[in-house]
Amino acid sequence: MKVMKFGGSSLANADSVQSVITLIGQEVMPVAAVFSAPAGVTNRLIEAITQAENKESYKKVIECICETFKSIVVGLNDADYKDSNASDSLLDSVDEYDEWLTKKCEGISLLGMCPDSVKAELFTSGERLMAKIIAKFLRHELRVDLINPADYFVSDSKNQLNATINIEKSIVKSKQSNSNSTNAFDVLVMPGYSAVDQQGQIVALGRNGSDYSAASLAVCLKAKSCEIWTDVDGIFNADPRVVKEAKVLDILSYAEAMELSYFGAKVLHPKTIAPLAQFNIPCRIKNTLKPKAAGTLVIDTVDKNQEGVKAISNLEGQCLFDIAGPAMKGLVGMASRIMNTIAQTNTSVSLITQSSSEYSLSLCIDENDAPKVKEALEHEFALELKNKLLEPVVWKSQLSVISVIGDGMKTNKGIAATFFKALALADVNIRAIAQGSSERSISAVVNAAQGNKALKASHRAFFDSQHPIDVLLVGCGNVGKELLSQIHQQSDWLNEQNIKINVCAIANSKAALIEPNGIDLSQWQPAFNSASKEMSLEALLKWSATQSFVNPVLIDCSASEFVASHYLQAFENGCHVVTPNKKANTQSLSFYNELRQRSLAHRRQYLYETTVGAGLPVIDNLKKLLVAGDAVEQFNGILSGSLSFIFGLLDEGKKFSEATAIAREKCYTEPDPRDDLSGMDVARKLLILAREIGLELEMEDIKIEPILPESFDASGDVEAFMSRLPEADDAIAELVNSAAQSNQVLRYVGEIDNGTTPTAKVRLMAVDASNPLYSVKGGENALAFYTRYYQPLPFVIRGYGAGNEVTAAGIFSDLLKTQNWLREVR
Ligand code: ADP
Ligand code: ASP
Ligand code: MG
Repeated sequence: MKVMKFGGSSLANADSVQSVITLIGQEVMPVAAVFSAPAGVTNRLIEAITQAENKESYKKVIECICETFKSIVVGLNDADYKDSNASDSLLDSVDEYDEWLTKKCEGISLLGMCPDSVKAELFTSGERLMAKIIAKFLRHELRVDLINPADYFVSDSKNQLNATINIEKSIVKSKQSNSNSTNAFDVLVMPGYSAVDQQGQIVALGRNGSDYSAASLAVCLKAKSCEIWTDVDGIFNADPRVVKEAKVLDILSYAEAMELSYFGAKVLHPKTIAPLAQFNIPCRIKNTLKPKAAGTLVIDTVDKNQEGVKAISNLEGQCLFDIAGPAMKGLVGMASRIMNTIAQTNTSVSLITQSSSEYSLSLCIDENDAPKVKEALEHEFALELKNKLLEPVVWKSQLSVISVIGDGMKTNKGIAATFFKALALADVNIRAIAQGSSERSISAVVNAAQGNKALKASHRAFFDSQHPIDVLLVGCGNVGKELLSQIHQQSDWLNEQNIKINVCAIANSKAALIEPNGIDLSQWQPAFNSASKEMSLEALLKWSATQSFVNPVLIDCSASEFVASHYLQAFENGCHVVTPNKKANTQSLSFYNELRQRSLAHRRQYLYETTVGAGLPVIDNLKKLLVAGDAVEQFNGILSGSLSFIFGLLDEGKKFSEATAIAREKCYTEPDPRDDLSGMDVARKLLILAREIGLELEMEDIKIEPILPESFDASGDVEAFMSRLPEADDAIAELVNSAAQSNQVLRYVGEIDNGTTPTAKVRLMAVDASNPLYSVKGGENALAFYTRYYQPLPFVIRGYGAGNEVTAAGIFSDLLKTQNWLREVR
């Protein structure tokens, strides 16, 4: 005989219950079947009791519980079973259940509290009704014996809500029950989740306890196997609801499965495996919706092909006690006193670590048990606390334990390093660590809010060949659009490199298109146009944090000071920042420094290569020079594509107003050419470079020599300005001509002199053929760095320094740099 257990997720509604009935009907009889309550029922029972305890109304919740059962009964009747008596009497049973629950809750509400014994009876009642319902429908085709867990399982633990079954006593008890029963059966049906204590009181086996019921029944019946039927294909190497890329495992050893379930893999109740392992009964985890899939087999084996980590888990709802003080040092027996005290409170400890100085011992327990553990410890160590031999007992709450697990971790080097590095690179702070001497697991305690991110980051480090980059794009003007198109065009190549860029949000000041799994870039524009959702930048960053993205990247393609002022918040919410927006780097020096400090503190990258020279590799090369000990002494550069174009035309004899008009026509200038001619744009780039070189300058320190003569009236709208521009032609022509007489050309140049009093200016400059800027025109940028090593000829970077394509390509390259950095971990 085998035991099959069907979880709440397989019994959520009439259709799924129908599939379960069909599945059982296809088995070779006899079989034993253990049932949970339908999904959500136990949660609602707990909710109703809590409401009653708080003297709140519980009626709606009870109504909802009974509705779930009724719809299953009615649905099954409609679906297949035409024997109306069957469902009618079951509907009566649901009504009786409704009355019973209501009465119990009335009592609890009057008392304002509910003893654990009553809670246990109520919590486990959903299972009893479910088993009764299914038994009745199974009886249409099969001989069914509905058995009572009270006749099988005995517990002698004091904890009535998380009881442990005494297997030896239960084997004896179930033998007696079986010998008393004369019922011939095909299917033995048992409600899961409960047992009885020594006094015959119902006790609950802890959340997910039906798995444990099934395992215990398998032992009591000497079953040949125990099958756990659920809503996933088996045990995965991480919770598939959190980690999309998780893979199902074919085989696990008892020890691995036990470790995994103890460390939070909800697919198995933690106590399920021990009895099966003790009696060497194979366990298979299977998907009710895909019965043909093999599932996961848990047996007494070591998978020889498996090296290193097999799975990763996240145990939520934990808190960390630090017991510290001089009393801990060298005193034999302190650890055992602490553990005994905790054991007295019926609390299980998920992790222990002790510093080698023996000054402190840290341990993790379920958050709900913290108050009673604190009280017990304070009582036990009252004397030590009074004499200040122990520090006050405190706990840190809202923690998760992330564990990497696998038999093959033994003797395998580098696992801890990979694990911790993955967490560090995802900016997850580790509060405590522990490794069992079995070397089968390594655990890290992290903040609960970062638990899922930690799980994803470690899964990537150990199992994924493909590295997704989650992107939030703010600003979708010309450059933003071009970037999206380049990402889309490159997707095949990226795929070959095992990189997947998920653009999860496209936003501007008016709308936001959000898709956590990645927006389809082949048609983002219509989707964006119809995105009605307006989302503040703050809300977008907070949303991103709730998605547990690992190393997401905020790309700011706006020119907005407002967006730039949010970069600190982006770092805090776990985002790297990539931007062509010059506003952040040209705000106050204190903000500039804070940006760098905060990005370092959060281990976030801040990449802004495209703020100077668009796609030209300026910042990167400059950084390389500086880290190698070089120092920039002098800098001259043409930093504006539009002015490079205009001054190039002046060389060819065009008038200044004509040259400006042509540049404007070709869209080389800003819509209002005064934005270029003012020199402000060049000044911003120069300030970024100056600060990069190490000069502590503010925007006001950059001297800007305007192109237009001081007397020129630059007021009015764009057209008025353009029509007045010829008035400046003579003055500029004079400068061009006088330069030409000395075989020079006129250039609008950003200049840094890093002498004893460093200066930075933007000015008109006449240069001769020996100067690298002489031949730079037509929209090209050129940057000449005169450095300690590059003398007398400068280090020159030259090329188109404007345009959507080159700028987007530069941003793309920065985006991939965040990925290269991540690869270090593998
Ligand atoms: P049931 O109602 O069948 O008892 P549960 O919800 O209790 O189902 O357990 C199944 C769930 O366990 C899955 O839906 C999955 O999200 C979660 N889970 C957590 N860790 C794992 C894992 N490593 N492998 C498979 N499932 C996991
Ligand atoms: N119904 C119980 C719970 O939700 C037991 C189980 O499903 O295994 O925890
Ligand atoms: Mg379960």
